[in-house]
Amino acid sequence: MSASVADRRIRSLRPPKGHADPYKAHGSSIEEERRPDGQIERALTVFLTGAECPFTCSFCDLWQWTIDGPTPPGALTHQLESVLEALDGPAPDRLKLYNASNFFDQRAVPTEDLPGIAALAAPFGGVTVESHANTIGPKTLAFARQISGRLEVAVGLETIHPVAAAQLNKRLDLARFDAAARLLSENGIDLRVFVLLGAPYVRVEDSVEWTVRTVEYAVARGAAVVSIIPVRGGNGEIERLQAEGHFVPPTLSQLEAALDGCLQFTSTVVTADLWDVERLPACEHCGPARIERLRRLNMTGRAEPGIACPTCAAA
Ligand code: SF4
Ligand SMILES: [Zn+2]
Repeated sequence: MSASVADRRIRSLRPPKGHADPYKAHGSSIEEERRPDGQIERALTVFLTGAECPFTCSFCDLWQWTIDGPTPPGALTHQLESVLEALDGPAPDRLKLYNASNFFDQRAVPTEDLPGIAALAAPFGGVTVESHANTIGPKTLAFARQISGRLEVAVGLETIHPVAAAQLNKRLDLARFDAAARLLSENGIDLRVFVLLGAPYVRVEDSVEWTVRTVEYAVARGAAVVSIIPVRGGNGEIERLQAEGHFVPPTLSQLEAALDGCLQFTSTVVTADLWDVERLPACEHCGPARIERLRRLNMTGRAEPGIACPTCAAA
């Protein structure tokens, strides 16, 4: 994919990249997650280090965990082996392999590594990988057959707001997303969807509504799980958009309103992404209680009364 003017601008505004070691995962975590059948799973996420994604979305900061050039063959299996060897306690139910790019892109995940990755993933009942809708295809189906557990593919739908979606530099057509969702569903592969809160070019007063509409779109296409991700600054382009008035940082209250608005979608697990949630603008008195409320909603999916706070109410 050749670099466009937008790609070059977005790259030029980035802060310097840190050192990334292609033989070392840049993190791992274990969390509990609800599934559509109500079961609570333990999921191990491994943040793999590899080649950068070619898409250069305006809001993305995943490039900082990537190397220059393609992922060397054997590097990802080495990373995964090291994380699995260091695991303590009972085996998690799910393995999430997040490689800050597209799992089915040969440059990011060499095809010759797929059997080794599948073998390492054998103890897990579910395996989640991430991919742009455009790179979902025959390789996805082949990998689903290679693993012992059930495959889930996480796809960024981001926003269905037509102006904002066009400005994301993601090159994602809704028709392409729909086709990918259909292919996954026809082949017994689960779909996980990322939806943005606070996408640039969505008016701040319409922000929650467009997030809920985008979640609804994903639910209608059979998503098993949808994660609402507040857009965060730090990659340079978002700061440029903010200075031009096209981006307003989303708040904790908006995240709460978006999740509350999505609890009606009971066939899909909709959660708020709470990574770095303390950075979201929030009322200092009720912020911690609101974060705890979001944690509960993520686990139960059941509506509950909002937090009454005299400080926010008076604001
Ligand atoms: S497709 Fe995903 S990883 Fe690639 S630039 Fe966009 S958000 Fe980042
Ligand atoms: Zn408050």
